[in-house]
Amino acid sequence: MYISTRGENHNFCAAEAIKAGIATDGGLFVPMSVPKITAKWLTELINIDYRKRAFKILQLFLTDYSDEELTLCIETAYTTAKFDDAAIAPLVPISDNKFVLELWHGPTSAFKDMALQILPQLLSTALRKTNENGEIVILTATSGDTGKAALEGFKDVEQVKIIVFYPHDGVSPIQRLQMVTQTGSNVNVVAVRGNFDDTQTGVKNIFNDVTFNDELRVQGFQLSSANSINWGRLAPQIIYYFSAYADMVKNGYLQQGKPVNFVVPTGNFGNILAGYYAKQMGLPIGKLICASNSNNVLTEFLRTGVYNRERIFHKTASPSMDILISSNLERLLYYITDGDTVQVSRFMSELNDAGHYNVGEEYLAAIQQTFWADCVDDHDTLRMIQDIYEEYNYLTDPHTAVAWQVGERYRQQTGDEAPQIIVSTASPFKFNESVLTAIDDVDTMSEKNEFVMLEKLSELTGCLVPAALAALENAPVCHEMVCEKQDMATVIKHILYSNK
Ligand SMILES: *Cc1c(COP(=O)(O)O)cnc(C)c1O
Repeated sequence: MYISTRGENHNFCAAEAIKAGIATDGGLFVPMSVPKITAKWLTELINIDYRKRAFKILQLFLTDYSDEELTLCIETAYTTAKFDDAAIAPLVPISDNKFVLELWHGPTSAFKDMALQILPQLLSTALRKTNENGEIVILTATSGDTGKAALEGFKDVEQVKIIVFYPHDGVSPIQRLQMVTQTGSNVNVVAVRGNFDDTQTGVKNIFNDVTFNDELRVQGFQLSSANSINWGRLAPQIIYYFSAYADMVKNGYLQQGKPVNFVVPTGNFGNILAGYYAKQMGLPIGKLICASNSNNVLTEFLRTGVYNRERIFHKTASPSMDILISSNLERLLYYITDGDTVQVSRFMSELNDAGHYNVGEEYLAAIQQTFWADCVDDHDTLRMIQDIYEEYNYLTDPHTAVAWQVGERYRQQTGDEAPQIIVSTASPFKFNESVLTAIDDVDTMSEKNEFVMLEKLSELTGCLVPAALAALENAPVCHEMVCEKQDMATVIKHILYSNK
């Protein structure tokens, strides 16, 4: 059963928590108790594939889903039709004690696919289980990665429509192409004249507009969100921590029971929090190392206990980590305070009203038993991409390079030689311009066309361009709608009522 981190909603089953997304008190759903594993259970993971591992883990959390339902969700999501590596989340050895967990073999070449391929299956199963007759409308404002991954995940899912708004001039050319060429009978993509903040504010206002929501409900539509506060996005991320560990043991890199450290490039704190669940369940994880770019609000928090969102926002080469408010941190606070929902609510209202909160020394000490943190600027990130490429002949995207650098600093500063698993969150081809700049003299290129750069990167490194990215060059554009920021609600009505 699930409870809100702020205490008001409790005894929600998983299907209800996934359908609701966020609790009515503004809190996030957490399981009331975290299931514990045994050594025998862990051993059983070693010789089974990703899908079977997924089943064993999700079964512990989504206890109201039947075995058949879970199996169907998993088999639909994690297939080789959608992932270009049969391992789904392959573990790549780099040296004796350094490994990379590649989470970008899904359809959009970024780690969001690991959760957004299965969330739609879990949600549509939840609708059936809770006898929901209405249609769910997934509304998303995106600065790039999430929108595309949500579109791919939700396309042609029954009883669901998805509308993605993106800032007209605020996404990369590849990201825009990925979205405007999206196929599927239930998908809509709209450019908003404005920046990402305008777009996100527009979507938030629509979620909070009671009259508008009531009007939609009368027509049989219920708005919902696909962002990482939904438990249905977090739970599937726990799987790959276990899978990576099982692969370490399977390949003889590690003796079962010995600890590993994970280094995670972090934005909204969703990915690394899934690692925290894995550790609480009993997976032998030593430290969870939180890597940030120049937007280092989490580094400061994990070092001082002070979370202060009042700071300058930097646009960086690792844009998926450009964030000032890490929503999933609220779930960590719930556990650190031993489930004190009054305390969590207080921290969250301080953040909202004053822009900052301080957890104090005792809680900070508890956090630091598990977490370590550092941040890397763009200059060092690009140098890292080059160093890794030269030393190991391995190509990383900027997000992964940030993690790699932080992992090295951790080892230098602590002397902890436990095997490190760098969590790799995007294909280097998705951020081709930064990667090319790092390993080659990109300014000598006559034309910085996206497809020329993809080819050039492939030529230089011998790595294959992911098929879905290469296919964009000739994919027909099917979404050309552009709207003013004040017209987003009207556009939604137009889309929903005209397709009925
Ligand atoms: C979303 C994203 C992240 C950040 O993950 P969180 O779960 O928000 O911490 C890191 N790297 C890439 C490429 C992403 O798309």
